Amino acid sequence: MSVNAKPLPPINPDTQPFWDGCAQGRLLLQRCGDCGHLQFYPRMLCAACGSRTLDWAESCGRGTVKTFTIIRRAVSAAFEPDVPYVVALVELEEGPTLMSNIIGCDPAVVAIGQPVRVTFETRAESVAVPQFEPMP
Ligand SMILES: [Zn+2]
Repeated sequence: MSVNAKPLPPINPDTQPFWDGCAQGRLLLQRCGDCGHLQFYPRMLCAACGSRTLDWAESCGRGTVKTFTIIRRAVSAAFEPDVPYVVALVELEEGPTLMSNIIGCDPAVVAIGQPVRVTFETRAESVAVPQFEPMP
């Protein structure tokens, strides 16, 4: 991997369906078959009841900015072209929160409570990372 390449997500059997969904442009959440709890990140147990009976539900991809920060000093050479960029916690309409970037706008206009929707950044063949952009 080139020093200028952004890192790829570590993919394991618990997260493979999530990343397969991203590669298809679908944001998937784990859903507990016993209690119905929806969770992110993917893991082997339901965080609410401990059940191992988990399947997948597609998120509508819409959420709001729960909090965010503007990164002005890149963590590595791969991110230097992006500065300044936004790292945010996005609360999905379905409930789970995930950490991502807000792209497609001036970082100065990002605000807590702002409605956003998912988009996917292709990082490698069959690997796409969910990002968020302001709702039109
Ligand atoms: Zn459960």
